[in-house]
Amino acid sequence: MKNVLPLFGFALIALSGFSQSSSTIPADTKVTAFTNASWFDGRSFRKRTGYTARGVLSFRRPSHVDAVVDLKGGFVVPPFAEAHNHNVESLNKVDALIQRYLNHGIFYIKDPDNLPDGRDKVLPKIDRPESIDVTFSNGGFTSSNGHPAEIVKRNIDPGVWTKADGDGAFYYTIDSPADLERRWPQFLATKPDFVKTYLLYSENYAARKDSDKYYGWKGLDPALLKFIVQKAHAAGLRVSTHIESAADFHNALSAGVDEINHMPGFRAHADVSPHAVSEFQISESDAKLASSRGTYVVTTLADAASIDPHGPNGKLRQEADELNRRNLTLLKRYKVHIALGSDSYRSDTLPEALYLESLHVFNSRSLLTSWCTTTAKTIFPDRKIGELKEGYEASFVVLGRDPLQDFSAVQHLVYGVKQGHILKLETASNAAH
Ligand SMILES: [Zn+2]
Repeated sequence: MKNVLPLFGFALIALSGFSQSSSTIPADTKVTAFTNASWFDGRSFRKRTGYTARGVLSFRRPSHVDAVVDLKGGFVVPPFAEAHNHNVESLNKVDALIQRYLNHGIFYIKDPDNLPDGRDKVLPKIDRPESIDVTFSNGGFTSSNGHPAEIVKRNIDPGVWTKADGDGAFYYTIDSPADLERRWPQFLATKPDFVKTYLLYSENYAARKDSDKYYGWKGLDPALLKFIVQKAHAAGLRVSTHIESAADFHNALSAGVDEINHMPGFRAHADVSPHAVSEFQISESDAKLASSRGTYVVTTLADAASIDPHGPNGKLRQEADELNRRNLTLLKRYKVHIALGSDSYRSDTLPEALYLESLHVFNSRSLLTSWCTTTAKTIFPDRKIGELKEGYEASFVVLGRDPLQDFSAVQHLVYGVKQGHILKLETASNAAH
């Protein structure tokens, strides 16, 4: 055995050396070379040439090249992503919305609650190389009179939605295991991409459940969540859970959910009852647990940035920044998967990324990786996206400046390529030509 091992090792090196030098692609396959750029490898930028053929990325010199695109010294990063937005829906101006996402370099979007027929209406416009790719939960599980029933009511009152858009469409009311058994087949029949669930101050579930005062400010019995997780996982679906408090964060983790939506205290002052800041502080043991379970946390914090730190509510802004900095520092210390989401109907994750940058918890490299890689992976966990690797989808954005030197470079897109297709972007630099 001792004599065989070195030989085997040598053969491997020789083989990989050969395969990196060239690759054979059928003559009738169009190959495009993207030259004169630095490509992000997850740690730093490397000068190299990228090739795309049949929508797949390669760094091996191919047997033929049909077109060359000069990226003019640009910086190539994986596309950005948005793990929490409800705006890809037929009531919106979808064509303009898609163009804005593409202009911002955001190619992947996760919608953690939508009307199932709203998805059907936008499907012809999405999930193609020249558009954005979106996953949908097709409703969410909550308690009677729980969030988001109040949002549905707000849409029914002016006649925008009808009663049929409520229970059984935008949400499913579950107050017992028997309710879950009864409603689950109806939900699965809509062919959801994942499962959305709601916890709101679940530490007070019993006190809130029958009180009108908490209409829209309550969610599932936390004891039911693990049954939903079991059913979802048996059906091959991941589970996302809306949270408000640190106790919700804990209960979601205990139930085994795959993704937590929002950070504790993301709208601390919106609830009916007042709260102490300690109710929103994630515990060290929960940060450890989220890390060991591989749970994703989707931020949605940029609302804080709308408060002027020098205005009349400056103290609120300071408190929000302090809480967010504290919780994010803890999650970072335990290497929890942080994904970016905005939950902002008229916006996207660009302001979210800039707000997180302003907190100085993450350096440019780790924030870029959260936005491009981690966020894409919690939207499409089974796709080869979010990294610029051999054999991955040929999707990337090109920045005019180095985002590791100055993170604001993420706003200066010069090119976008999705699945090998060169996008037409309306960017400031294009307008100047
Ligand atoms: Zn939301």
